[in-house]
Amino acid sequence: MRTTNLAVVLRFVRTHAPCSRADIAASTGLNKATVSSLVTDLLERRLLRETGLTENRIGRPASMLTLQSRPYAAIGIELAADHLVAIAVDLTGERLLTWRRAHAGLDGAPGRAEAAVAALAGRVVAKMAAEQRRVLGLTVAAPGLVAPGGGVRFPPHLARPALDLGAALERGLRHPEYDVVIESSANLAALAEYRGGAEADTPHLIALVGGVEIGAGIVADGRALRGGRGFAGQAGHLQVDCAGPRCRCGRQGCLEAVAGLPALVRRALPDTAPDGPIVDYAPELERITALAGNGDAHVTGALAETGRLLGRGVSMLAELLDPQVVVLGGSFATLAPWLLPAVQAELAARAPGETACRVTASTLHPDGAALGGAMLALDRLESGQLPASAG
Ligand SMILES: [Zn+2]
Repeated sequence: MRTTNLAVVLRFVRTHAPCSRADIAASTGLNKATVSSLVTDLLERRLLRETGLTENRIGRPASMLTLQSRPYAAIGIELAADHLVAIAVDLTGERLLTWRRAHAGLDGAPGRAEAAVAALAGRVVAKMAAEQRRVLGLTVAAPGLVAPGGGVRFPPHLARPALDLGAALERGLRHPEYDVVIESSANLAALAEYRGGAEADTPHLIALVGGVEIGAGIVADGRALRGGRGFAGQAGHLQVDCAGPRCRCGRQGCLEAVAGLPALVRRALPDTAPDGPIVDYAPELERITALAGNGDAHVTGALAETGRLLGRGVSMLAELLDPQVVVLGGSFATLAPWLLPAVQAELAARAPGETACRVTASTLHPDGAALGGAMLALDRLESGQLPASAG
């Protein structure tokens, strides 16, 4: 009960800071003595701090409360098909660190992706320790299905080896005292949008995240929709063009095969002749953005075509799940100025006058899944998993 109330107060201060003890009591229905005791507890745990007195109210000056930015840090690491991203935030959600690294890919030698994640996690934790911050939690955003214990499996048609991230992190971080959680990238991207994006608190929301691979995180009625085995949101393998190119899953014309980054690069930069398979698409993405920004007709045409095909996928999701908004994330957010008009036009053409679904671009960092990972640790605080005392 007390833990629940501590979490209620913490959540109230996050959304209403700066606020007084009286504000908390008035809005939460807890009595003033209880609020006072809970606040004392949260001050002792260094989760809250007092910002001083305000005179701008009737009666006695009140001491105002806000979240303590020190001494904690929450960490999110995204394992994407071609790169890793690490983000650390403080308790207020303020960004402390953003690192991006290329890696050898998910189809390489067994254990390599896991080792790369564990090594990056170790470096971020060391950096936070050097800044005298205590890690509240570390979440790894992984593609595929995450099993209890931190194993990651992929849908059978992808024929991709499973990853043992949980064990690699446990070893690499030397049995940490904080929680290490593995969660699907798309679900974490959706959490980041639902908790802190421009469409925050929209109860029916889909985060459609693009990159080399495409996935959807679905929030329905304010809760993550996972499906029976946790494979919900495999939007990348919706067939949007039956005459389209073969997908890595073996089928033809999947959304990912026609609107993923490799397809866009082939369409927009046909003269690119990579020596060997591309492992990190960041330079190509940068080149496409620069050319489109200069109004290059071929590249903007390729983006419009990609947007049209993406719009087909969005309209399928809209028909099936009736979201209020679809938020485009990942590289789709970076390319949104050119993709979005075509996506919206395709959606309108396919459901004239009847769809209430809006499509927007994520305003979060393009690496929303890593941010969502960091936010998950903060979210867990507000569900009552509080640190015992400040370190
Ligand atoms: Zn496919």
